[in-house]
Amino acid sequence: MSPFKVRKLTYIATDLEIIFPIAIAFDAKHSMFYFAMMLLVLAAIIIALLKYWKCPHCKNYFPISMSLSAKYCPECGEKLQ
Ligand SMILES: [Zn+2]
Repeated sequence: MSPFKVRKLTYIATDLEIIFPIAIAFDAKHSMFYFAMMLLVLAAIIIALLKYWKCPHCKNYFPISMSLSAKYCPECGEKLQ
């Protein structure tokens, strides 16, 4: 999977995180479940970034703020996509 695809997925997942506090507010009875799900999604985002948000050539991590349209690795200068 390309780093950029993973980064886009983590953006979507981050947006989804907003659902859980709302769910907790409206359905307090199951708050522990929503809270667990929230932590799970957060852990998935972090794991995905640690695993994929790096250069396929030099294996250096990209800066978290790097643009999704970046064409070259900032570390080794290899073409990315
Ligand atoms: Zn590189």
